[in-house]
Amino acid sequence: MSRGARITVDLAAVRHNLARARAAAGPARVLAVVKADAYGHGAVAVARALAGLADGFAVAVVEEAVALREAGLGGPILVLEGFADGEDLEAAARLDLWLALHDAGQVVRLARAALPRPVGVWLKVDTGMHRLGVAPQEAAALWRRLAGLAQVAGVPVLMTHLACADDPADPATARQLACFAEATAGLEAPRSIANSAGLLGFAAARGDWVRPGIMLYGVSPFTDADPARWGLRPAMTLESRLLAVRDHAAGEPVGYGGTWRARRPTRLGVVAIGYGDGYPRHAPNGTPVWVAGRRVPLVGRVSMDMLTVDLTEHPAARPGDRVVLWGPELPVDEVAACAGTIGYELLCRVTGRPPRRWV
Ligand code: PLP
Repeated sequence: MSRGARITVDLAAVRHNLARARAAAGPARVLAVVKADAYGHGAVAVARALAGLADGFAVAVVEEAVALREAGLGGPILVLEGFADGEDLEAAARLDLWLALHDAGQVVRLARAALPRPVGVWLKVDTGMHRLGVAPQEAAALWRRLAGLAQVAGVPVLMTHLACADDPADPATARQLACFAEATAGLEAPRSIANSAGLLGFAAARGDWVRPGIMLYGVSPFTDADPARWGLRPAMTLESRLLAVRDHAAGEPVGYGGTWRARRPTRLGVVAIGYGDGYPRHAPNGTPVWVAGRRVPLVGRVSMDMLTVDLTEHPAARPGDRVVLWGPELPVDEVAACAGTIGYELLCRVTGRPPRRWV
């Protein structure tokens, strides 16, 4: 018997969101970002749903790309962290992966590699994120070197990554765009800049390839916006059931540590989901939970298998009722904001415990 905790991934919503990305991208091609198991949605299932709709996929590491190829997915797959060793390089050549190179040492190692066939490469330029990427002043020379290598297939793409595009008012994005334009001026190469926020918020960031991730899963990339404003449909529902409904006396605490105490006679609902399923343990009292058509507040500490909610204002709720922790009924970003994190993290860290199904 299932306790009711499960994850449903709406692949029609993912396809719809891809169409929104494509509409915003104009003529730019769209690489659907499916790293980290497609932000918790299942990389193979999502990539299959988008095959023929996206122009390719982006993952973080070679292992993720190998899994997609083994599942039969063709077309471009960009590995955002490039390669770590010769084994990665060999796999990239054999499986026709594209590698994003981010330092001069990788260019040298590629130049020395004996590959069965050339690989597609992107050169990442650090324009202000200061995480990965070559310095703007060395970008042109490295790109020319790559363009002349027998190990490189086609024209290397120039890319950068935006650090602050989730806040359209932040002037850092304009600085990054100007830096990228200057560093790559005169090079006859395709360019790629935009993640979801760059794509939706900055027309100048579109370039030749866009790399949306979070928006494909129906989550707004902006800190203050709800997904519907961008016509996005949440793809993941984390749901469960009410395991018990109990009368709780005023003054009594609930759960580990007794961190919440009823101020009035209370109807408590016990929900069959917890941090063992990926619900954030640090979600505080008051975090919204959707129970059979209404939002009610979380109370007490989240435990491994259960959490408790205050149903006093929802007297119709009964054991067995459907509960949504996030999904179309309750944006994941709202839960994330209460828990002091972002929707990305909550989506990525659902565990393998609740059964996942794709509809
Ligand atoms: N491009 C790169 C280089 C990334 O690292 C990521 C994700 O972190 C993305 C694109 C997709 O970003 P988002 O999910 O914000 O659209």
